[in-house]
Amino acid sequence: MLVTMDKIVGWSKRKGFIFPGSEIYGGFGNSYTYGPYGSELKNNIKAYWWKRFIHEREDMTGIDGDIILHPRTWEASGHVEGFNDQQVDCKECKTRMRADHLVEDALGVDCEGLPDEEVSKLIKDNNIKCSKCGSENLTEVRKFNLMFQTQMAKVGENSTAYLRPETAQAIFLEFKNVLDSTRLKFPFGIGQIGKAFRNEITPGNFIFRRLEFEQMEIEYFIREEDWEELFVMWQKEMKAWCDEIGLSRDKCHDLEHDKEKLSHYSKRTVDIEYDFPFGKKELYGLAYRTNFDLSQHEKFSGKKLRYRDSETNEEFVPHVLEPTFGVDRTVLAVICDAYNEESLEDGTSRVVLKFVPKLAPVKVAVLPLMKKDGLPKKAQEVFKKVKVFGNCEMDISGTIGKRYRRQDEVGTPVCVTIDYDTLEDESVTIRDRDTMEQKRVKISELLNILGESYFN
Ligand code: ATP
Repeated sequence: MLVTMDKIVGWSKRKGFIFPGSEIYGGFGNSYTYGPYGSELKNNIKAYWWKRFIHEREDMTGIDGDIILHPRTWEASGHVEGFNDQQVDCKECKTRMRADHLVEDALGVDCEGLPDEEVSKLIKDNNIKCSKCGSENLTEVRKFNLMFQTQMAKVGENSTAYLRPETAQAIFLEFKNVLDSTRLKFPFGIGQIGKAFRNEITPGNFIFRRLEFEQMEIEYFIREEDWEELFVMWQKEMKAWCDEIGLSRDKCHDLEHDKEKLSHYSKRTVDIEYDFPFGKKELYGLAYRTNFDLSQHEKFSGKKLRYRDSETNEEFVPHVLEPTFGVDRTVLAVICDAYNEESLEDGTSRVVLKFVPKLAPVKVAVLPLMKKDGLPKKAQEVFKKVKVFGNCEMDISGTIGKRYRRQDEVGTPVCVTIDYDTLEDESVTIRDRDTMEQKRVKISELLNILGESYFN
């Protein structure tokens, strides 16, 4: 079965996962709204990430920094000067394009690190055309800074501020505060989840490339000599995460960045790419950023950002590994991997989303067979019990078969059906989403059975 983006986009809207944003005004660029099920899925991803990396590891803690930071932050980090993409405009139809993407699509050449003039030359020499109208009448390649600027009400030196293009920098700014207020020992990491903003020249592919998106990022502070070993540790951690959220191993690939094309401060970067329906694209990244960021912030702020070893008294600017996870790309990959269309033995078919239970937007659906004779009341009792597992649903309308299909389509791992026998013998039917098998269990054992089979 081929999963196309058309199918994913249509299903996402129909089932309340992701809506086109501002639709009543005719839509607005690349804006989207996570609907009732989509916001549950997204929140479950973020909550599991926090649990997995912040709570369950002794060497990690978290912060929640601001979106608008002191503007000097972005001078120190190099974003004001260097956070650029190369743009080219079509003089005929006025379409603006990523010059590097245009060249890569036409010639398969990676333009990372190439000066604007060389990319312009590649476009001209190879008669590369506008991706929209096919004209060769294109402008020279220019740099375009991806940071959104905003003006503060107060006037003066800092009245121009930026919406953060990544969450990581707040972690560097608070490095000393976290160190002084916790008892963390080397090596240790600080994680953060939050919005980031990038004025992308060509947003697109649904929620893959957005102007406003969320990241889950870690800065892991280390001694320089440990970087290689700990880089491998984080590669394993990121792979384990991909497994745990249900991404197929054969759809996740490592992409080692070319040594010559790395930024001057980065010694190694490996992306995890995922086979999206529109191609193999970056899902996550892991970078060894040396001690560049902390050193820059020391220089620009005049404050020391060092770690002192209590045993040796040695003081140094820590080096850093940066595992970074895009939330929206995770949502998209999880949906694409979970989406299945199955033909059934009775000649019918079903759409079923095989989310791992911990991410499923609805954990358990409780279905009273009839709307009468005390069945809804009994179902309420069961509903109150199963809510310990998280967001649950009570569905009382339509035939039972239709209700099962409805739950399959939003990926509910298990349904609990209340029928007339329930009133007599205190037992219910549980129906598994993936196997569609049904079995009868006592209400008194229900929580144990569901806990062990689905939510342990
Ligand atoms: P790309 O090459 O696709 O533009 P990037 O290398 O610039 O991505 P990073 O700066 O490493 O991305 O950002 C960290 C993570 O944030 C990415 O791995 C991705 O998951 C996510 N991300 C980056 N840009 C966007 C965007 N415009 N929309 C949605 N997610 C994004």
